[in-house]
Amino acid sequence: MLIDTHSHLFFYDNIDEKIKENLEKNVKIILENGINRESNRKVIEESKRYDIVYYALGYHPTDLVKEDDEYLEKEIDFIEKVQDSKFLAIGEIGLDFYWIKDDKLIKRQEIWLENFLKLAEKIRKPVILHSRNAELETIEISESYNCKKILHSFWNKEHLKKAIDKGFYISIPAFVYKDKTLQEIAKETPLDLLLTETDAPFLDPIERRNNNSWKIMYGLERISKIRNIEIEELINVIVRNFEKAFNIDIKNM
Ligand SMILES: [Zn+2]
Repeated sequence: MLIDTHSHLFFYDNIDEKIKENLEKNVKIILENGINRESNRKVIEESKRYDIVYYALGYHPTDLVKEDDEYLEKEIDFIEKVQDSKFLAIGEIGLDFYWIKDDKLIKRQEIWLENFLKLAEKIRKPVILHSRNAELETIEISESYNCKKILHSFWNKEHLKKAIDKGFYISIPAFVYKDKTLQEIAKETPLDLLLTETDAPFLDPIERRNNNSWKIMYGLERISKIRNIEIEELINVIVRNFEKAFNIDIKNM
């Protein structure tokens, strides 16, 4: 059974084909993460069409700086009203100082990250956090909020210990298959905080931008070697962590 904690298959035009591949390769759960208003609607649609698709609703930090406050408030109101057992988390939210360097826009990202964290607390959902070049700031802003926190594609060894100490889950992309830093992160993350993802269609572990949830296998293979643990056992660990992080019982899904 394979679980992808973070993907964006809605970027594909041929999503039927992509889902079919996943069904053939024993993928059980794909957690699609909305990044803006349009894709939040898309992931809800997808979840209705495909049994294996679940979703998170949020606003990506590089997308939200393009919108005004009123527009974002409306989206928060929309998300707050969604009642659906397939709605598992608030995400993707977070900070991105790689693409956004302007001080005023950074401030807006921080304010809206807090607004989404408040929403997560209110509706009792975990959060899926993007933290590119803003790892410490993302941890520091979100640590005091009373919700489970998942750092997706966390790529910073320097701040890993702080994240672990604060109980953040670390979601390792399948790209760990070929990336040394991610391999070191996979080695140092306690097993009970470990999750795996693809970030598809991005971060393809073997070719160029054709990633799909089943390629989580490449990540599992690499992590199993690094941790000296059988793949089946690793999968069991991840299933248990996923159930804990998202407060669900996979047997009943
Ligand atoms: Zn993402």
